[in-house]
Amino acid sequence: MPQALVLAVTADGALRPVTAELLAAAARVGDPAAVLVCDPAERDTLVTALGAAGATTVLVAAPPAGAPLLTGELAALTAAVTATGDVSAVLIESTFDGRELAGRLAVRLDSGVLAESTDVELLDGQVVVTQPAFGGAYSVRWTTTRGVPVITWRGNSIEDTAAPADAPAVVELTVEAPAPAPTVLEEHHEPVGDRPELTAASVVVSGGRGVGSAEKFTVVEQLADTVGGAVGASRAAVDAGFYPAQFQVGQTGTSVSPQVYIALGISGAIQHRAGMQTSKTIVAVNKDPDAPIFEIADFGVVGDLFTVAPQLTEALAER
Ligand SMILES: Cc1cc2nc3c(=O)[nH]c(=O)nc-3n(C[C@H](O)[C@H](O)[C@H](O)COP(=O)(O)OP(=O)(O)OC[C@H]3O[C@@H](n4cnc5c(N)ncnc54)[C@H](O)[C@@H]3O)c2cc1C
Repeated sequence: MPQALVLAVTADGALRPVTAELLAAAARVGDPAAVLVCDPAERDTLVTALGAAGATTVLVAAPPAGAPLLTGELAALTAAVTATGDVSAVLIESTFDGRELAGRLAVRLDSGVLAESTDVELLDGQVVVTQPAFGGAYSVRWTTTRGVPVITWRGNSIEDTAAPADAPAVVELTVEAPAPAPTVLEEHHEPVGDRPELTAASVVVSGGRGVGSAEKFTVVEQLADTVGGAVGASRAAVDAGFYPAQFQVGQTGTSVSPQVYIALGISGAIQHRAGMQTSKTIVAVNKDPDAPIFEIADFGVVGDLFTVAPQLTEALAER
């Protein structure tokens, strides 16, 4: 069986939950294998974790001089692995970095990107993915016409897991130092808090323009913290400076698919829906009964979010 390659996602020496989901998706279309770029000190722990998550093979590379690989280098490495093996698909988490990597990789492989995938299957030997289209109003199934498909995967889309592999085969990869070596002019680290990441959270509480100010966003944060959720924001809230851009949900932000999505003071424009419509349960609080968000909400409260959200926070905290 061909291998289905997964780009392992790690943080602080541990696998991020999306990696197990990527491996479960990979198992549907091939023998799940993981490409792992990590510090040698973290390697054994991560290989064991990848095996437990279903990787039958782990292809390991250590970044030269301990510096993280730039996206171009990672694309070159993954392209080399893909070109020399029998590979049915490459699966990458759909994040800003993941999407950039996918594009570069598809060019190198002369194939195509199947973006924002939420399901994958083999049909007559062809890898076919499902993707929400037109803001989630339609689901489309599509494939590439040539080459190894590069799939960007929307986290929290499937719940199955791959069968664990007790002792995954380990293949060492060599990273060629690029010539000329790139110069890093500036490093920017996103602030990391105690909240789960947007794409991994099972509950996301988002605030929109209706929240009114950056200070008042605490009402959104308090509700999120009560349920261990992540905080999101609409683009209008981001553009108004209420919340940082990295938390924007939607077509030009992050796509999320949590178990529960709570929208506070968000009208439900199609560009916002594009990033949250696949959430399992949608709860909306809006003072306008005609707000489009209510068309897709499973539970809706017509009311002032500053009255409703604190009561919800209190009731949940009691439980
Ligand atoms: C190319 C393009 C890409 C875009 N990408 C994105 C994207 O990625 N994500 C995104 O979100 N948008 C995106 N947008 C913008 C999108 O079209 C909307 O403008 C935006 O989503 C509106 O945000 P909002 O719902 O917070 O604000 P508004 O549409 O202004 O809605 C605010 C809502 O809050 C309600 N409200 C006000 N006060 C209260 C209160 N006290 N209690 C309860 N409810 C209250 C109002 O009734 C209203 O429904 C994009 C637009 C374009 C053109």
